[in-house]
Amino acid sequence: MALTSDVLVVGGGPAGLAAAIALRKHGIDVLLADALQPPIDKACGEGILPRSRRELTRLGVELDARHGAAFGGIRFCDDHSTVSADFRSGQGIGLRRVVLHTALIEHAQEVGVRMLWGTRVNLNLSQPATLNGKPVRYRYLVGADGHSSRVRPWAGLERGSLLTRRFGFRTHYRITPWSPYIEIHWGPLGQAYVTPVSAEEICVAILTRFSGAARSGDVIQSIPALRERLMHAEITTRERGAITTTFRLRRVVRGTVALIGDASGSVDAISGEGMALGFRQAQGLAGAISNDNLAPYAAGHAEILRLPQTLARLILLMDRWPSLRRKAMNVFARDPHLFAELLQVHNGEESLPQFILEQATRLGRMFLPSPA
Ligand SMILES: Cc1cc2nc3c(=O)[nH]c(=O)nc-3n(C[C@H](O)[C@H](O)[C@H](O)COP(=O)(O)OP(=O)(O)OC[C@H]3O[C@@H](n4cnc5c(N)ncnc54)[C@H](O)[C@@H]3O)c2cc1C
Repeated sequence: MALTSDVLVVGGGPAGLAAAIALRKHGIDVLLADALQPPIDKACGEGILPRSRRELTRLGVELDARHGAAFGGIRFCDDHSTVSADFRSGQGIGLRRVVLHTALIEHAQEVGVRMLWGTRVNLNLSQPATLNGKPVRYRYLVGADGHSSRVRPWAGLERGSLLTRRFGFRTHYRITPWSPYIEIHWGPLGQAYVTPVSAEEICVAILTRFSGAARSGDVIQSIPALRERLMHAEITTRERGAITTTFRLRRVVRGTVALIGDASGSVDAISGEGMALGFRQAQGLAGAISNDNLAPYAAGHAEILRLPQTLARLILLMDRWPSLRRKAMNVFARDPHLFAELLQVHNGEESLPQFILEQATRLGRMFLPSPA
């Protein structure tokens, strides 16, 4: 006999679980299937910014000191300058990916999501979806199957553009976090993104555009301040790698199929926003399905991706052009208020056009030669 549900969610990562929870809050029957067994680990910077934390609270998932370590802002460091800014409201939280996954699953269970782990959804072109080869009936199918989504081509939603593509690696170190911030260290081979995840552990995510040549160790070695800090720290997990991209699709909805999370478009990991996008999309998708109309979800989805993708591409100019990075870091170091305002734009507390309007003169300094 076929399994049935109102909505079949393909993939139980952060986006699929958030969608399933949001759907249950509308009283919709949800079946979620993931090919892997939980808790699922993945290369990740493991930082949840205050805005994403609020999205999780709206879903009913409260993260606190039991889960990880709070951080109060962002710090950029390079070999010449350091600049920090505090969040205007709230604190971020760093937590192991598996801890977040467990918290999401626990809440999904509480609200009545039916979950099948170790269950692959088979998606062969022009054939109905099956669960480990068994038939399944549903009204809507949600593709939350990540970066290399199979739902995407199966539903004919593959057309889009790849804007950036880099490599990411993650390792944990046993060491007391030395900073109340997420630190992003800029080096010649890429960035090291340091997030406290407990009172005695940090996560270091490496982001680089150099394939093969650069792995975590090489990037850390090229950043003296970090190399010294980590030289004697015990590595507590094995390195995990992944591709990080910024891409957008022409469409994320077709008929009764909708994509969410990385399957539906992504933003380079430097933004720290990947999971947050899925949490935001989940609310919109659940509302749309409960109204039997996916059009508002498609429109809202484009809006959710626009700002983070624009900001990520701007930040990546600093990766591509070291001289621009040095200039920007000098300007930020001399004028930390500018950096704080940018963080507020990133955190959704100020609009980008408003920021550009108000900060035009200061931004001009980035590109004009400094007085001798
Ligand atoms: C190096 C790096 C650092 C990052 N740092 C951060 C950060 O600090 N903060 C942040 O918010 N984001 C970060 N991100 C981004 C974040 O990891 C992703 O945006 C997030 O994992 C996307 O979640 P998802 O649920 O869409 O996809 P995934 O987490 O990839 O989940 C997809 C799930 O679908 C399942 N699946 C796939 N196919 C099938 C199938 N056919 N049947 C059943 N199940 C299937 C998979 O097993 C998987 O569990 C980072 C990414 C990288 C690469």
